[in-house]
Amino acid sequence: MKPMGPIPAGFESEAGMLLIGGRGAAALADEAGETPLFVYDATMIRNRIAALRAAMPADLGLHYAVKANPFPHLLDLMATLVDGFDIASSGELALAMEAGMGGDRVSFAGPGKTDRELEAALHAGITLNLESEGEASRVLALADRKGIRPRLAVRVNPDFELKGSGMRMGGGAKPFGIDADRAGELARRVIGGGAEWRGWHIFAGSQALDPEAIMAAQAATVALAARLSDEVGSAPPLVNLGGGFGVPYFPGDVPLDITAIGTALGETLAQRADILKESHFALELGRYLVAESGVYLTRIVDVKSSQGERFAVVDGGLHHQLAASGNFGTVVRRNYPLALANRFGALPADEPVTVVGCLCTPLDRLGDAVALPPAEVGDLVAVFMAGAYGASASPASFLGHVPAIEILVGED
Ligand SMILES: *Cc1c(COP(=O)(O)O)cnc(C)c1O
Repeated sequence: MKPMGPIPAGFESEAGMLLIGGRGAAALADEAGETPLFVYDATMIRNRIAALRAAMPADLGLHYAVKANPFPHLLDLMATLVDGFDIASSGELALAMEAGMGGDRVSFAGPGKTDRELEAALHAGITLNLESEGEASRVLALADRKGIRPRLAVRVNPDFELKGSGMRMGGGAKPFGIDADRAGELARRVIGGGAEWRGWHIFAGSQALDPEAIMAAQAATVALAARLSDEVGSAPPLVNLGGGFGVPYFPGDVPLDITAIGTALGETLAQRADILKESHFALELGRYLVAESGVYLTRIVDVKSSQGERFAVVDGGLHHQLAASGNFGTVVRRNYPLALANRFGALPADEPVTVVGCLCTPLDRLGDAVALPPAEVGDLVAVFMAGAYGASASPASFLGHVPAIEILVGED
């Protein structure tokens, strides 16, 4: 038996059936007409954001990183709940606009923005978080040609890292942002070039579960923003503090203490340098806002054994939910939280079962030797923590199976 990650709080059952947004999992699958499907619970997202806002300083902005989950109905909801969207492609720009996000509330980060993307961003009036000197030159030239005043921020590759983060995106040589020691010079250049100065974007990492590390990174981020602003001699309208708030996926992972983080951030901001006194601050979060709200439901097609090991073969797999298979940014494969949705809370069988997807590759393993109730063909497996980096972050075309259905429930 190998352990699984913790099932997120708030999932209940009725007569043994997992409820998602108050609806039975089997009924949701029947209504969708097919499995596999992703179900996102709007109420959980609302509650999550309300709790986060309550814990954070009152005037702190909250941005959503669209890449975590760009499902259009979910974006429509997010547009009503957050202060801004952070996007990373022209495809995400189109989605943000369709969700009704005003251009003044969208910022575009990410390396490798093409001229076509820069142009679309200029026309939409969104903020470009510059990733390099070369990108700055291209956008200034394009803006000049189009007669549009660009809104520009500088993404800084910080000279520190977010310790213990699952994916480090700052500290050391990085393709993201401009090294802190050259960021001031670039800011002076874009301001001198006539751009509307939007401020700093400082993103130090992702998926951190250590509140102390987040607090330290936030304090270092505010200090860096102050140092750079002094160097430039200009107050930034916005300091995007990045995010990095992690969620518990694996055995032993503990949810973040956001109250402690909010209190520390409040103190950091209260003591900020004079040049930042009029600046706004924002967090940009992806998975923290949506991961727990999502459940991937996939049906058992076959149950078999091999050399004494039991396998449950499902109609989904890593082509929809790559992260649960352990092939998305993890070094050692560990189990996501899983359950049998139609026997939720029932006692596990004596024997462990390995839940594998329908792809013809040994990588396609959703649960390795896990304790589940006796599994039969037709049962529904629920893979939790599927609200972020699921459908859109998985190789949907691999092996030619159909894409997963996605639905948002709990909307009133
Ligand atoms: C990926 C990314 C995010 C979102 O990260 P999460 O871990 O999902 O919160 C935010 N900002 C930037 C710049 C990113 O690249």
